[in-house]
Amino acid sequence: LGRNPQLPGLAAAHPPFDVHAVRRDFPILSERVNGHQLAWLDNAATTQKPQVVIDRLSEFYKHENSNIHRAAHELAARATDAYEGARNIVARFINAPSSDEIVFVRGSTEAINLVAKSWGKQNIGAGDEIIISWLEHHANIVPWQQLCVETGAVLRVIPVDDHGQVILSEFSKLLNARTKLVSFTHVSNALGTVTPAQEIIAMAHQAGAKVLLDGAQSVSHLRVDVQALDCDWLVFSGHKIFGPTGIGVLYGKPEILAATQPWQGGGNMIEDVTFEKTVYQPAPAKFEAGTGNIADAVGLGAALEYLSRIGLENVARYEHELLVYGMHALQAVPGVRLIGTAPDKASVMSFVLAGHSTQDVGKALNKVGVAVRAGHHCAQPILRRFGLETTVRPSLAFYNTYEEIDRVVAVLKQLQCSKR
Ligand code: PLP
Repeated sequence: LGRNPQLPGLAAAHPPFDVHAVRRDFPILSERVNGHQLAWLDNAATTQKPQVVIDRLSEFYKHENSNIHRAAHELAARATDAYEGARNIVARFINAPSSDEIVFVRGSTEAINLVAKSWGKQNIGAGDEIIISWLEHHANIVPWQQLCVETGAVLRVIPVDDHGQVILSEFSKLLNARTKLVSFTHVSNALGTVTPAQEIIAMAHQAGAKVLLDGAQSVSHLRVDVQALDCDWLVFSGHKIFGPTGIGVLYGKPEILAATQPWQGGGNMIEDVTFEKTVYQPAPAKFEAGTGNIADAVGLGAALEYLSRIGLENVARYEHELLVYGMHALQAVPGVRLIGTAPDKASVMSFVLAGHSTQDVGKALNKVGVAVRAGHHCAQPILRRFGLETTVRPSLAFYNTYEEIDRVVAVLKQLQCSKR
């Protein structure tokens, strides 16, 4: 197997990516598991954290910790500066025109629920239609189902082909004057498919619908530019992009955020409160009721700056080479069936191994220190589309190596030999 079969000439055009240098930035990658060096191939579930993020959290708690906005003392000013600084970093990272368009939330799930329960309740009614795709994570199915039950709206689903790519011609048949919203994933967490986001968004807008793009699995692998894509909302989770857990992002177009009622009430989000009525702050504060996850927002800012220093183009190129190598290597193992073979893919290599349960494969890999997810990946409909309840899912980040993929393949071959 060539290490770079689909990218001839690229190695010459770009200096090789120094994976060993970046690995040194992640202390947990030196961990030993069951007597073996950890191979973290569960990046679609969550990513590991570089030292700069760990240090930033510690710095915040040592020197800046305070609640934001409310007090007039020095530490409140430091904490507020750090928190709003992180908002600016997020805006730059996704090329949002203004940091006022960035709402901090707990993660992608909360961001989608926020849109469903605020904008959705205001704008979706009986007979309206919401379109999602078969690829969606449950987080981008359940809130819309709930909204449909509450409002009498109808959920429609874009089918996928046998490679796991959405079928655009079928999507265009679903669009009509009743379509109010299209909400879909940029990268499938179960199959790795990169969806044609630009086209889907343009087609949806043409039909007069708004578009939410679920970037949970894309922002760490490819550049996501909200202005170029023209999505109405983008959601992503900090923990899947080398930042802390419990912090995530909702980007929204300013006119939409301005016209949307908040979904939660409390402190911080108000301008004035009397017993008769409350005047809300403008976005983003209007959507951030209560004390938010201040330190972790600051940690997310550090993660995005770190990733920007490495360069998403470098990350995307290296990961693509690794993915092509991994897909070829897995395919060559007798009994392996790859699930999700679209030409446009990122990070995820889902498969099943004939004669072995996905749980057993996961356990055999764990025995030699290799962490993968074996399960339904919170995306049951798409796995059932392929006749499965679960798969084994190694998923890559830029700190993974060819050697780690070889370790997966060696375990699969051993499992196959032991059956003979
Ligand atoms: N959307 C996709 C595509 C995901 O992969 C995930 C998590 O795996 C989510 C949404 C939900 O993310 P979180 O659990 O961080 O809210």
